[in-house]
Amino acid sequence: MDINKQSLRLRLKQSLSPSVMEKITALAKRRGFIFPSSEIYGGYQGFWDYGPLGVELKNNIKKEWWKSMVYKREDVVGLDAAIIMNPVVWEKSGHLNAFTDPLIECKSCHHRFKVEDAGDKCQECGGEYTQPKTFNLMTEVLLGTTEPKEKSYLRGEITQGVFVNFENVVNSSRVKVPFGISQIGKAFRNEITPGNFTFRSREFEQMELEYFVKPDEAESKKIFEYWKKERIDWYVSLGINKDKLRFHEHVEDEKAHYAKYAFDIQYEAPFGWSELEGIHHRGDYDLKNHNLSYKDPQTSEEFIPWVIETSGGVDRAMLFFLIDAYFEDGERIILKLNPKIAPYKVAVFPLLRNKEELIIKAKEVLKIIKEGIDGPVVWDDRGNIGKRYFAQDEIGTPWCVTVDFETLEDKKVTVRDRDTAKQERVAVDKLSDYFSEELK
Ligand code: ATP
Repeated sequence: MDINKQSLRLRLKQSLSPSVMEKITALAKRRGFIFPSSEIYGGYQGFWDYGPLGVELKNNIKKEWWKSMVYKREDVVGLDAAIIMNPVVWEKSGHLNAFTDPLIECKSCHHRFKVEDAGDKCQECGGEYTQPKTFNLMTEVLLGTTEPKEKSYLRGEITQGVFVNFENVVNSSRVKVPFGISQIGKAFRNEITPGNFTFRSREFEQMELEYFVKPDEAESKKIFEYWKKERIDWYVSLGINKDKLRFHEHVEDEKAHYAKYAFDIQYEAPFGWSELEGIHHRGDYDLKNHNLSYKDPQTSEEFIPWVIETSGGVDRAMLFFLIDAYFEDGERIILKLNPKIAPYKVAVFPLLRNKEELIIKAKEVLKIIKEGIDGPVVWDDRGNIGKRYFAQDEIGTPWCVTVDFETLEDKKVTVRDRDTAKQERVAVDKLSDYFSEELK
């Protein structure tokens, strides 16, 4: 963490606009996206639980990422490594020495602050500060049932699981350099100042690609640029406003201990431009530290591949998708989430809840859509149609289907679009095709 980044953070903090964040946080709680962890006991700082809608949105983001980073490619395979690894991994990776944040403490009230958030005087009591000290971000765990227990760590990044399995993957699959290994999983950091809702948490999820290339400056730079573009395009393809995204290049003292060069994809959040994903050129730093190399099966040429990494946060992506999708139209709140990641795809309503023939027909329509598309389809018969639209807009359901008396005659339903509020009549037997086409 360098001084530039730190002063940037301070500026970002000052420009914080609480109203939007408060609205998003309230909506997330009210509608079951995100709850404070262990809330009945007062919560736990830096930890969050994902509710019925949150888990769908988060899973959809991961699903779309996996599709684009594994399934659509010929040169990438997947991995799911353990969260706790032999502690030697963290010695070799440099995390026990270098994975640190500088903190300063108030001499009067002993509050601690990240240097970038501190200002000249204590933010709590106006007291004087000590000199900065560094704190390691790795979360320690004690393993075993008898004393002395063995000290280990929850992984601070998911990346190392890929490197320690490099040989296993090469030997067990048909990958050849250049190739990549993708992984999604939890990481843990003893963040000193968790905050901005889920933006900085102590437990979070990462989605990462480690792409192994020949050790060649020009070639690796080209591949680096390729991945930069791929990754920013992915967010745009899922609906993020491209004017709210930008690259930020790390200056020398901003780079992580492993980075040859690095760019962040930043999103313009209500609390300022903030890192969403890092694209790092890690050179041979990791494979060399783990004493690993690669032998080309055709030429028998042996070398240590260089690594281009794309490292995104699932929770940050979800938070920024939510913020970006949030619109107000008078009293109405609309989450304009891309249908591919929206928690529910379609809501089905009977026009009236007390007319048996409508209920029977609407249940039939619900079943047909459920079988025809990939994703949750929900039933809603509370209140009047207007209230139902209102409720579905607020959770981002792209389409509402109403079964009315005409349906019984013409076998057509009213499909209403969330973003345009336009309604059209669609034949029941065309519904699955209609939605599948939109979800492609
Ligand atoms: P920051 O500068 O914000 O602390 P970082 O540069 O340390 O982030 P990386 O180590 O590059 O982050 O991690 C890759 C990605 O993991 C980040 O781009 C972010 O999306 C996510 N991430 C990192 N730390 C956290 C956290 N404490 N809470 C939520 N997501 C995180």
